Amino acid sequence: MPASLPKRYLVTAALPYANGPLHIGHLAGAYLPADIYVRYLRLMGRDVVFVCGSDEHGAAITVKARKEGVTPREIVDTYHASLRDTFQKIGISFNIYHRTSEPLHHQTSQDFFRRLNENGEFIEETTEQYFDEVAQQFLADRYISGTCPVCANPDAYGDQCEKCGTSLNPTDLINPRSMLSGTTPVKRPTKHWFLRLDKHENWLREWINTGKVDGVALHNPNDWKNHVVGQCNSWLDQGLQPRAMTRDLDWGVDVPQEIPDSAGKKLYVWLDAPIGYISATRQWAADNGKDWEKYWKDPETALIHFIGKDNIVFHCLIFPAILHAHGEYILPRNVPANQFMNLEGRKLSTSKNWAVWVHEFVDTFKGQEDALRYNMAKNMPEQKDSEFTWKGFQESTNTELVNNLANFVNRVMVLTHKYYNGLIPEPDPEQAFLSGWQPDTQGQYNEELGILHKRLVEMGREIERFNFREALRMLMEISGAGNALLQFNEPWKAFKDNPAQVRVVLNLAMQFVAAIGVASRPFLPFTAARIRHMLHLPPLEDNGELLHLLNELAEGNPTLPPHHAINEAEYLFTRIPDEVIQQQIDKLQSSDQQNQPGSNEPAVNQPAVYKALAETITFDDFAKLDIRTGTIVEAEKMEKSKKLLRLKVDLGFEQRTILSGIAEHFSPEDVLGRQVIVLANLAPRVMMGVESAGMILMAEDAAGKLSFVAPSEGWPNGYGVK
Ligand SMILES: [Zn+2]
Repeated sequence: MPASLPKRYLVTAALPYANGPLHIGHLAGAYLPADIYVRYLRLMGRDVVFVCGSDEHGAAITVKARKEGVTPREIVDTYHASLRDTFQKIGISFNIYHRTSEPLHHQTSQDFFRRLNENGEFIEETTEQYFDEVAQQFLADRYISGTCPVCANPDAYGDQCEKCGTSLNPTDLINPRSMLSGTTPVKRPTKHWFLRLDKHENWLREWINTGKVDGVALHNPNDWKNHVVGQCNSWLDQGLQPRAMTRDLDWGVDVPQEIPDSAGKKLYVWLDAPIGYISATRQWAADNGKDWEKYWKDPETALIHFIGKDNIVFHCLIFPAILHAHGEYILPRNVPANQFMNLEGRKLSTSKNWAVWVHEFVDTFKGQEDALRYNMAKNMPEQKDSEFTWKGFQESTNTELVNNLANFVNRVMVLTHKYYNGLIPEPDPEQAFLSGWQPDTQGQYNEELGILHKRLVEMGREIERFNFREALRMLMEISGAGNALLQFNEPWKAFKDNPAQVRVVLNLAMQFVAAIGVASRPFLPFTAARIRHMLHLPPLEDNGELLHLLNELAEGNPTLPPHHAINEAEYLFTRIPDEVIQQQIDKLQSSDQQNQPGSNEPAVNQPAVYKALAETITFDDFAKLDIRTGTIVEAEKMEKSKKLLRLKVDLGFEQRTILSGIAEHFSPEDVLGRQVIVLANLAPRVMMGVESAGMILMAEDAAGKLSFVAPSEGWPNGYGVK
């Protein structure tokens, strides 16, 4: 393991699915910790690139498109724009926010697939998968629902039961049905490419547990979080199996055309999504005249993946196996996955709308973005699950940001204007005063700057260890010490009798404010910018300003020289009143009410499920159909059949026997005398020993409910329908 600093950093944050908005759990899980980390590295003058983008493939996107009756492209365009906008508003400072529908990404992923294929990393296998005969397509796991074998939830998905959380295979479901047509799917053979993860098991185990590959140390395993290593080992202990890297889907990255049998096959979204980090880096490099390969192929680069704990297996086992199998790529130096953040005592849930949506927060709490970042960082689920509560948010804003941080900065600003016309006073370094760091202790100007330096170094060390909660606590200690400095020395009382002491105290307090103006940027970027403006200092440009500050403090040099002129004071944070918090709590509770099971209210967002449109036909195709009006003149149940009714239909010119699969919906009495529309030239078919000559046309909804299609009342039989 290299003892010196990495030459450069490539930091990734999990690609969000472009099928829904961002909630605070996502923010606390991956994006905020990654942002704190990269903002710190930039302030330390390190070479760092921070990439992310929308994950725009996979059945989650096509399912959503189907529900909303739009194309997958419309879904991803909408959510990509909205996610990008939300990230920007909450201050997540990606160097690039890319998207996996870009041609560059398709090309990058296909190149990867080709390379793995050439390297013999795949086995091709034909397996039986569910196929929808009506929609004429294979069904992705998410397109199959049925009854959960564990909890009997009738609406479990093919990959998971959302009620009990059990991971499922489509074949585990009882009474599987296709979400495309509502029919029972059948099994059909289909060929797929399976990555031989079993081949990689041994080196992955060594790498996860020792940080070494083939005896070469790549990282220190003690730097990794216990729960990350633990989860990896529990997967490894079960033995890694070959895993399908292709799917039968119509939306995604094509398996390269030249590979035999690739028609209609797409890359598995979990193959293409992490490659999205690479294509994003390539796009960033192309836009900025940089060499992307150094960030992915040079062992002196530290690759860091920020993710939530649900993505650990993909980032710590599967993606590393893919990178290693390719042969040219480095492995992640660390994957500091976070645990989950809960909300008001319950798990966050998108489907139950039990969430705080970040885009709604930034609209409602304009100018208070940092208050959310602060609360998230303070409660970050680093080692175990944590919780967001609105009362807790109010408390952390009002007591810590308003009373501690904003109050300190404001007091120093106001006093400096009042006593020195907004010019930094000249301190006498020998002047006695009480230290802000330790009660009842004499302070000394240079020593106080030395303690400040030490705190900032410690804060940085915690950030580099991904201990963001502890780092934030250290930052807040600086403003706490600043408040204490004012409290102990009471410049408002001392100004008359001891002006020399007030000069040194206020100068020192101003140096604390200046340090916070730089060091708070990873956590509170909007606040840091306001402080810089108040201090009449140029905006931070992320080019090593904290490193510079540390070097100066180490030399005993204050940031703000005597006589430097500051600007007017501005409010950094405002108190959040009870009624605003109550509104948010009420809103959350009411959105939850609508989703209570057993409620008679129609579900608000009940999705429409539409069948895929069939292949286009010509007018001539249509003209072949002879459709006539008719009336049912006899109706009886078919013996031994649950589904069929035996009907006699008067077509005017003749009467016909037609068997119709409607017995579960209609009794013979229901249909007798009904006018109907009949497909009259359908080839006769024998079912259960009876010949059926034609078909009654019915409308069917998503739940499989049937309705007769009929001409206007009293219409004569036997006439054409066009
Ligand atoms: Zn279940």
